[in-house]
Amino acid sequence: MKYANVIVDISLDKLDRTFQYRVPAELEDALGVGMQVLVPFGNGSRRLTAYVVELTDVCEWEPERVKDIIGIAEKGIRLEGQLIALASWMRRMYGSTMNQALKTVLPVRRAVQEKVKKSIVLAVPREEAAGSLKIFEKKNQKARMRLMEALLNAEPDGNGLDYSGALKELGITAQTIKPLAEMGLVRVEADTIFRNPVKPSEVQAHPVILYPRQQAVVDGILSRAAAGDKRPSLIHGVTGSGKTEIYMELIAAVLEAGKQAIVLIPEIALTFQTVLRFYKRFGDQVSIMHSRLSAGERYDQFERARKGEVRVMIGPRSALFTPFDRLGIIVIDEEHEGSYKSETVPRYHARETAIERARMSGAFVVLGSATPSVDSYEKARIGDYQLYELPVRVPGRKLPETEIVDLREELRMGNRSIFSARLEELIRDRLSKKQQVMLFINRRGYAGFVSCRACGHVIKCPHCDVSLSLHRGGRMVCHYCGYQRPAEKKCPSCGSSYIGAFRAGTQQVTELVQKEFPGVRVLRMDFDTTKQKGGHEQILEAFSRGEADVLVGTQMIVKGHDFPGVTLVGILAADLSLYAGDFHASERTFQLLTQAAGRAGRGDESGIAVIQTYSPDHYSVKAAAAQDYKSFFEQEMAYRRLMNYPPAAHLLALYMMSGQEAALEEGAELIRSLTFEAVRRLQKHEGKGADIQVIGPAEAGLAKLKDVYRKVLYLKCGDLSVLLAWKESMEAEFGREERLRALNIQFDMDPVNPF
Ligand code: ADP
Ligand code: ZN
Ligand code: ZN
Repeated sequence: MKYANVIVDISLDKLDRTFQYRVPAELEDALGVGMQVLVPFGNGSRRLTAYVVELTDVCEWEPERVKDIIGIAEKGIRLEGQLIALASWMRRMYGSTMNQALKTVLPVRRAVQEKVKKSIVLAVPREEAAGSLKIFEKKNQKARMRLMEALLNAEPDGNGLDYSGALKELGITAQTIKPLAEMGLVRVEADTIFRNPVKPSEVQAHPVILYPRQQAVVDGILSRAAAGDKRPSLIHGVTGSGKTEIYMELIAAVLEAGKQAIVLIPEIALTFQTVLRFYKRFGDQVSIMHSRLSAGERYDQFERARKGEVRVMIGPRSALFTPFDRLGIIVIDEEHEGSYKSETVPRYHARETAIERARMSGAFVVLGSATPSVDSYEKARIGDYQLYELPVRVPGRKLPETEIVDLREELRMGNRSIFSARLEELIRDRLSKKQQVMLFINRRGYAGFVSCRACGHVIKCPHCDVSLSLHRGGRMVCHYCGYQRPAEKKCPSCGSSYIGAFRAGTQQVTELVQKEFPGVRVLRMDFDTTKQKGGHEQILEAFSRGEADVLVGTQMIVKGHDFPGVTLVGILAADLSLYAGDFHASERTFQLLTQAAGRAGRGDESGIAVIQTYSPDHYSVKAAAAQDYKSFFEQEMAYRRLMNYPPAAHLLALYMMSGQEAALEEGAELIRSLTFEAVRRLQKHEGKGADIQVIGPAEAGLAKLKDVYRKVLYLKCGDLSVLLAWKESMEAEFGREERLRALNIQFDMDPVNPF
């Protein structure tokens, strides 16, 4: 017997409720998730159309009370149905309730009416506006004069005047504005965030002519798409090799064919210059979403897309769910970025989800990066993705020189400062030449690893080959398996007492720079200084205007703006991300170092990047310094294969959280034994998963966050279907098991960010 769970309306409140119907035998073969069906609803059995969100063998009600589906309302799957099918896939793949998945995927209607911010802008060129002002002066029309003056005085490229503010300050009314709007002099615009920041006159008349190697990539991808090759394309091209121009050319071809495009970028605030290039090329067809949009604003953006008012949507991972009904292409720029993995349930990866959506809608997927994720590059190597390589920058742009500085040597020579002699010398040199310097702290996750400053030795877990983290009370803990031991007083490798937790912050470095180089102007960019809206942009712009000599920052500074004045990049301690205590640490370090180094020397002057480290022989550091992706990839893959980490196998994490420590302890133990039972069943009955490994439960990287205790259990297995089967069986247990009620339980398939 088959059952279908349906939703009757796709709006906020109704999503919380699915209804179950029986699937009549004659419909069993024809019915699929995402289809619209006719159902008898409520007491009077009113006929309603509903969407099938799930097909199941499990009857969740008393069987005699479950009604039959009347029939299929519409053959084929419409857009909403497609998104529902995508949600269903995400639920199965990443673990969540169907409602959580639906809310992620469907544009949720606003629950409360939000206040719309309006502004008044000039609708004519400034000269014409000045002419009108003269006429108003002649006619002595005071209110009109005040408004036109204020508009002419407002920032020329700005967003005009705030509507309600202008009424108050200028002492005018809506009656002043209305006739001027009718004359076409001014315009009242809603929600400034959606406004195209590029004026029509700035839209490119002629796009650039691609270099032959760029054109070859475009031709290759388009001809494969035309031939029905569904495999995603991966463009591995160094920064400045012209990837963005390639994306735009592909999108132009897609628009030409009457279709639509989605472009995912990691963070609008950091890549605004790139976004502007899309506006310049495609004008008003483009719209952006950013992570700070409210649910209502996001809904509005999606509505514009649905109505066909925009055809190119640019945004972070959630832009993936733009309701385009003729989707032609999904581009994912900087595809290696951790921000493509959702950190809320369902913890989906935008790359895999994009590939699934593209498969459903017949679109093609293009991934691009200067430092592809190991996952994607491996997929390309085995032929799941088609690889395109652009190993050189476009003419006129040189890659920077790089130098590695061994911090152990510095200590030996008595230098205990955070700046090596070489870096200090170069900073002085650049400052004297009035050139700019970027100092980069690649802190990531919980940089509490324990290392020896004399020999560089890092204390690692004997089972997991990741570094141990120093926890309170002097314990060193492995964040995968829970192994722990007391902190060392002396280096087990060289006996030195210079051993301890490695910590450094942007604030500390900023103060040191000011002390070492008196009078230097320093800007700091990190989570704290960019909290307010536009914070990123302000700091980056100030630096690019030359208002500071040195920019100190975290990974935020490696993206976005071009800084032609920067001729020196100092990476203070590559080790900070190298020993972050998770298996992605080397990969992340390679990416950060390569990108940071790439910031040096974008202008005419060639640049130098100095990488300071206690591990000068580590392959991530060496390969980044040599800008040699392949050598990094090969060594990293060897490690992943040896340890069975993704992409060599799959890793499914189960996170457990609770405000009560004892309940968490007990729950974790129960989950562990349930897991072993489930694994035994799978191995016995299905003969699968012989290679399965259960790891933990262990304390999470953040063992306690906002008074919530956190633990993790991992399952490793080469066969994805085994992990999914374990997840399903655990999900069923969680519904039944009283003792787990006090726990918040979440799954994370192939996690990429530390928990
Ligand atoms: P990437 O995205 O790989 O970093 P971009 O597309 O941003 O590279 O290109 C780097 C720079 O070179 C940009 O300023 C871009 O405008 C310019 N550029 C790229 N391709 C061409 C081309 N075919 N003709 C002229 N300029 C180009
Ligand atoms: Zn040592
Ligand atoms: Zn371990």
